[in-house]
Amino acid sequence: MNVEFLGTGGYHPDAHRHTTCVLLPDRGLCIDAGSAFFRAPERLAAHGVTELDLVLTHAHLDHVMGLTFPLAHIERGTLTAVRIHGRREKLDAVREHLFACDLFPVLPPIYSWHPLPEKAAGTLPVADGLLHFREQVHPGGSLGLRFETGGKRFVFCTDTAPAPETAAFAADADLFVHECNFPDGWEDLATRTGHSTLSPVLDLARHARAQRTLLVHVSPDAADPADPVGLGEAHDPPPGAAVAVDGLRVTL
Ligand SMILES: [Zn+2]
Ligand SMILES: [Zn+2]
Repeated sequence: MNVEFLGTGGYHPDAHRHTTCVLLPDRGLCIDAGSAFFRAPERLAAHGVTELDLVLTHAHLDHVMGLTFPLAHIERGTLTAVRIHGRREKLDAVREHLFACDLFPVLPPIYSWHPLPEKAAGTLPVADGLLHFREQVHPGGSLGLRFETGGKRFVFCTDTAPAPETAAFAADADLFVHECNFPDGWEDLATRTGHSTLSPVLDLARHARAQRTLLVHVSPDAADPADPVGLGEAHDPPPGAAVAVDGLRVTL
């Protein structure tokens, strides 16, 4: 399983990071279409893939704005189908608001919309694997995801407050990716905005016994873009813990 981090920031892009987009290019599977989604068609083309299954964790703008970007690739025929999976109300919101004529007037005809089952947790067979989803704590809700194929487990939990049950969801992950919008000390704002601070996320990674942990959805307003959440000062970080950067590629 090849995992490419096209966008690792939250909220808005900056000089170092675009917003959330993670691609499994050889499987034609993508999570979220933040501002980094403009990078996806070229990476798919490098693997000879023209169709994409895109899973939306939720419809906040930093996770969907990129849906307006791939028109040139669609015109050239290098991107021929995008099947968009997510909660029904989130898919409706994208169509009605992001693609409202006054915001962006061209809804790509190759997009199709696939609501997930209306339950708190479930499974979707996709991209030659199984995608498990579960509801998370975040304003308006978001989905935590676990993709399993070939005996490998890739867990992706963004836009969520730290939740104890995430450790079970991510148990024995080969790669555990969790948001870390704030360093420690920002707990009040994290709670109000439904995001996470560093220490509880590292605790989750330890309890999950994850092989490798990567932090994403870091704040563009952090003073040090190389270590935006103070991971370098963390006591006893779990093995393989790092802050993801745009362009990072991981093979599981
Ligand atoms: Zn976000
Ligand atoms: Zn959000």
